[in-house]
Amino acid sequence: MSTQSTQQTARQPTMFGIEVPRCTSCNRPIAPDEKGVRFLCPNCGQAEIWRCEKCRKLGNTWRCPVCGFEGP
Ligand SMILES: [Zn+2]
Ligand SMILES: [Zn+2]
Repeated sequence: MSTQSTQQTARQPTMFGIEVPRCTSCNRPIAPDEKGVRFLCPNCGQAEIWRCEKCRKLGNTWRCPVCGFEGP
């Protein structure tokens, strides 16, 4: 007899069952079919910057989490 515990794992819900990147500007998840862009920080070249389509259109600024560089 196996006493299997029906323990519910508190998993963070993801949009599409996979982990999606987050926009560096607005921190919203970027859908795989969205025209988001990914690039490395032009200042330190270490941080991966994501920008969603909306932020690109609005020209929102982003801030590098590594060096603190801000840029459009
Ligand atoms: Zn955004
Ligand atoms: Zn940087």
